[in-house]
Amino acid sequence: MPESLLESGSEFDRTKVLLARWLRENAESTRVLTRDELSALGTDRRFAAGWRVDIETASGVQPFRVLIDERFPYSPIRVASNTADHYLRHPHVEPGGLLCLPRRPAPTAGIEQAIVTALSDALALVGEWEDPVVVKAEFQREFVSYWNRGKDKGATPIRSLLDATNKHTRRIAVWFGDGYTLAGETSQQLLSWLKNRGRSQESKVVPGAFIYLDEPPVLPFPQRPGELFAMLQQHAHSAAALLAQLPAQGDLVLVAQAPSPSGDGLIGMTISTPKNFDGFRKSNRLRPQAKFALWKMKSDLGRTSIDRFDSAWIHGRGLNRDQRRLEASTALILGCGSLGSQVAHRLAQSGVGRLVLADPEQLSAANVGRHALGIDSVNMNKAAALAGTLRLHFPHLQQTDDHPISWQSLYDQNPEIFERASVIVSCLGEWSADGQLGEWHARQSGAPPVVYGWLDEFGTASHAIVLSGTGPALGCVLGPDGTLRTPETLWNRDGLVQAEPACGTLFQPYGPIDAGLAEALVSRLCLDVLTGKAKVPCHRVHAGSTSQLMEAGGQWSADHLKYRPTGFEGPFGYERPLDVCGRCQSCQNPR
Ligand SMILES: [Zn+2]
Repeated sequence: MPESLLESGSEFDRTKVLLARWLRENAESTRVLTRDELSALGTDRRFAAGWRVDIETASGVQPFRVLIDERFPYSPIRVASNTADHYLRHPHVEPGGLLCLPRRPAPTAGIEQAIVTALSDALALVGEWEDPVVVKAEFQREFVSYWNRGKDKGATPIRSLLDATNKHTRRIAVWFGDGYTLAGETSQQLLSWLKNRGRSQESKVVPGAFIYLDEPPVLPFPQRPGELFAMLQQHAHSAAALLAQLPAQGDLVLVAQAPSPSGDGLIGMTISTPKNFDGFRKSNRLRPQAKFALWKMKSDLGRTSIDRFDSAWIHGRGLNRDQRRLEASTALILGCGSLGSQVAHRLAQSGVGRLVLADPEQLSAANVGRHALGIDSVNMNKAAALAGTLRLHFPHLQQTDDHPISWQSLYDQNPEIFERASVIVSCLGEWSADGQLGEWHARQSGAPPVVYGWLDEFGTASHAIVLSGTGPALGCVLGPDGTLRTPETLWNRDGLVQAEPACGTLFQPYGPIDAGLAEALVSRLCLDVLTGKAKVPCHRVHAGSTSQLMEAGGQWSADHLKYRPTGFEGPFGYERPLDVCGRCQSCQNPR
């Protein structure tokens, strides 16, 4: 029989006895809470034991409830006020009267220290409630959580695509969906998001309002539209003028943002007008005073929570300094195989706002072990299936185009795609395709930088190179046969390239981990190029371990050993010098 975690002899049992003894000896009075009293706390948290205690202070006796849950002593001792009345009336009180106290070391570090600290923190908090200035400041510091705690049951949450750095009161676009409401800057932004999520039919977008408050709302929060208007008059002067332009029919969604010491916060509201109210039929043509009067008399005000779904939040919780630059960047990814698909996925995750994918091939089952796509996409074009997945997972991306053709055909049809890219990423994995791209690039003036990524034999090393179009060319790095002019590895045996039995395709087996290391190397270089952190041109190498290379039957070249630290046999990364070779086509026939 499995033992209960709280069995006698458990840490729970032993520490609980110590805690009860300390309370009996030190509190003015102590009484064990009954099971009914514990469940009557009405919180999500289940408490395993609790005591009602009176603590003597200079200003009189202070009653508390001391509570422990089933994870005690690895979880903190909780202290609650004696009644639940303080919830939403005083700061740092959770449902049931539970006090939200500073995080302290777990009671495992010493039960006496833990209970003394918990009760002192509780007394300090209750003491603060006497000071209205402190109470207001504390409510404002965490106004979003207080707002959300009192939100209407069943209220539809808002997903916001709004630009949180724009602090101007303004008209926004709103779409009502099943289970969530979408709010964005423009209807175009919402429709693009919905289309990426696979919503094909026409979606109805209505206007809403974004309101910037000069300070956060405090309890009691507005319950009726009239109370809201009074608050806006005080804290958002241009809000009334904006609301006067908006329809009084249907649900009007308001997103409000306010500053707090812990950063700006977003809260949501809906002014709902009864659908069957005749007086509203022509209300959109009403004069503003009449519109406000109708809202005040006939409409309800609902409170709702907001989740940020905007790019700045998704890609760094609003703190990523590179996010704006990446969002405005376009990466043209040529080749969506095991490396290119993963690089595209990483760039999307990193917040690159525009991705253009090209690959003429279909995904096969044998690709799935290393590809960003799974078995659902087998027999589909790699670029199309990948773009579809990225749109679904990152619907806020501004552009995810796919072209089921070779890079050469894409260039023939749309050379401007190449000219407009911020970076071109070649994960073609074939010299025949890479070589021609390198030749094209060397002949252009003003073309975007090209990042080339590939793996060496058996994934024993991987390479990421960025070239600018002037200076060294791809031919300076790779010889006429597509192999490195200065190789990392040497191979003595035949049969280096393994042939798949069924057809003429050649492949060198390497695993998803080696592909992953190459993916990280190439993605990082792309991001560094886009954010101006990489010097262009440059050549970065990730070399695997000596044992991996030996197992595959190879050895390090003398050139590689110049970079490998003496006596070190593990994997490592380094940068190789990249100079004009003087021998290749591009060097022989300069532009
Ligand atoms: Zn050269």
